[in-house]
Amino acid sequence: MPTKKKVCIVGGGATGVALLWALSRDPQASQEWEITLIHNQSTVGGHSLTCDVPWNGRSFPVDIGVQFISPMLYPNVHEMLKRTEFSSRVAVDDYNQLKIACAFPPEGSNQLNWGNFPGYQKNWNQPGSQFSLFNADMQSDIGAFQAFIEVSLLIGWGNKTLQEYFDNPPTPYQNPSQFINYILAPYLSIINGYGASLLDQTTFIDLFPLFAKLPLPQSWGFPTPLGSFSNPGTGWQRFTNGARSWVQAMSDVAQTYVPSTIVLNSNVTAVWTDQSTGQVTVQWTDQNNNQNSGTFDKVVLTTDMWTNSLILNNSNNQYFWNNLYAKYVGYGQDENGNPLGNPVVWPLMWGKCYIHSDSSMLSPDLMEQEETLQFNAYYAQGTANGNYDLTKTFTTYIQKNVLNDPDADGLYLTMYGYIPNAANGDKVPDPTKVFFQEPWTHGKWTPSFMSGPKAQLYLAQGLGNISYSGQMNTNIYFAGNNTTADSEEGALDSALAIANYAFGVEYPLAEFEAESLFAYFMYTVYHNVMFPKQNAGHAIASLYQMLPEKKQVGVTASPPTARTQVKRATVSKKTSTATRKKTVTKKAASASRPKKTKRAATKKTVRKPASRKSASTTKKTAKKTTLRKPAKATRKKVVAKKAKKR
Ligand SMILES: Cc1cc2nc3c(=O)[nH]c(=O)nc-3n(C[C@H](O)[C@H](O)[C@H](O)COP(=O)(O)OP(=O)(O)OC[C@H]3O[C@@H](n4cnc5c(N)ncnc54)[C@H](O)[C@@H]3O)c2cc1C
Repeated sequence: MPTKKKVCIVGGGATGVALLWALSRDPQASQEWEITLIHNQSTVGGHSLTCDVPWNGRSFPVDIGVQFISPMLYPNVHEMLKRTEFSSRVAVDDYNQLKIACAFPPEGSNQLNWGNFPGYQKNWNQPGSQFSLFNADMQSDIGAFQAFIEVSLLIGWGNKTLQEYFDNPPTPYQNPSQFINYILAPYLSIINGYGASLLDQTTFIDLFPLFAKLPLPQSWGFPTPLGSFSNPGTGWQRFTNGARSWVQAMSDVAQTYVPSTIVLNSNVTAVWTDQSTGQVTVQWTDQNNNQNSGTFDKVVLTTDMWTNSLILNNSNNQYFWNNLYAKYVGYGQDENGNPLGNPVVWPLMWGKCYIHSDSSMLSPDLMEQEETLQFNAYYAQGTANGNYDLTKTFTTYIQKNVLNDPDADGLYLTMYGYIPNAANGDKVPDPTKVFFQEPWTHGKWTPSFMSGPKAQLYLAQGLGNISYSGQMNTNIYFAGNNTTADSEEGALDSALAIANYAFGVEYPLAEFEAESLFAYFMYTVYHNVMFPKQNAGHAIASLYQMLPEKKQVGVTASPPTARTQVKRATVSKKTSTATRKKTVTKKAASASRPKKTKRAATKKTVRKPASRKSASTTKKTAKKTTLRKPAKATRKKVVAKKAKKR
């Protein structure tokens, strides 16, 4: 039997494990590749992490990251879960009462709160009501916005941003700033990962699948709309035993096809490519603090882009760092938002989650606890730009409602879009009541966040079955939610796209029924984001490559540009002892490349190289959106405050 080639997958979240599954179940790839997955936690999961929390004499599976999925927005996850090997392992519950409540700092005796269900809409017009935001103006504006979303795609507004819309609303609003500040911004902040409304990056095509009531066939059984400002959201699901159960199932199912090596509790510290051989070395520290290393034919990084920056910028990888990754991956930021180098290409965010039992984290105005989750700006008052500071808000999931289990009463999950610090006056759970805490970095859920760095990343991908001028022969690939959208579907689809591009694995979830065609469509959308088609011919060719029975084309091909760059680099590069050992002659390396595919690669359309401008623009706009115009009432308050100061 010929020796297998070796692939290392870095990161055991949904993406890494989905890739493990896709490679293991594919008859050709599993024969060809020996797989090692290295992950820095004690179980697979990543952001799909579930903690078993002891409470009231029982153990509750509380998700510290992923909370909900939906068949509508996550068709490939849905397709996978329908398969016997998964339906027998992963339980999923429907969740058709996604109730959201929002609390704000009161303005005098005026309580500014609302909820999208009757409990928090009552008595809005009575003196002393806690929920005065659900007033007649607001109800009219909610109706206007939801009605516009329904028609937005039909009338050509799909790619326009919410900022463009509210700069000059085509339909009349009673009190647009009140609607934006107290209804839309909190909702978008929850969707986008807290602390940012991103009006100028969110388009109507992002919101349409969430807020439109879609006429889907009843047999699909996906009620809509998923999101609403005036009613509970419908059509959601949650993993009964937590999101980890899905990731663990993918890992278990993969092992039934072909055994692979899963290295847990181990932190990958450096990855570099030998410029002569194309072999990739991975270095990691295991749980006993031992340093390990291994050499692979391909490495797929499923870690976020800021982690990738730390891993790729090492002394053995300086050629590729300086000439490739600095531009497309760039540096990260520390927990206080300070750049770790220049440029910062990916505008990710820091955040933190706590599982706790501290009920004082709930807003004192929203103590009915009927909601699934509570957006809390009550403790975020006092900026010059409004009467609450969106960046200092947090959201608490009430576990008895999330888990639909009264015994979980008193258990909470609180999520921040920053790293809170009690010493700075941030409201944090009482440390004696915290069961688990986890800091994380993340992208943004809205697919429009694909613009900018995401759209350029293909140029930093190792070579695959679509080639682009300017790529280098690194044998390092990027998958993960940063490359598509920050969701379980984004994670799965990015894994399937890399499996196809770098390993020739065909789309594995095809069944010829309407639902699965939709899943396939979603996959092609994300595939195209990661590996854009440059013209119609290219589009057809790459679609053809995805169809069953089609042989994989040119995965090992090295476009001449890439080869020239690799050669030139070899002259100037200082090789480490380890690297020198593995070096083979340049002649031998180039002789192993198939000539026909090389020639084919030269024909590709030349794309303009990525400009840094787009990345910095994204960064700037992201910042801008957190500043909000105050509502009428608030403006008065700010003016009053200023006058006092003077
Ligand atoms: C708080 C929160 C709530 C969310 N809610 C939802 C939701 O309700 N629905 C939804 O669909 N999505 C949600 N998401 C998004 C979803 O969790 C992610 O998009 C998805 O899980 C990402 O999977 P991934 O494998 O791409 O990345 P990750 O899950 O981040 O996996 C990568 C993993 O690699 C590991 N790693 C990092 N560095 C190293 C290293 N040096 N060496 C080895 N391993 C390393 C880490 O453990 C890391 O977690 C949420 C995310 C967060 C953070």
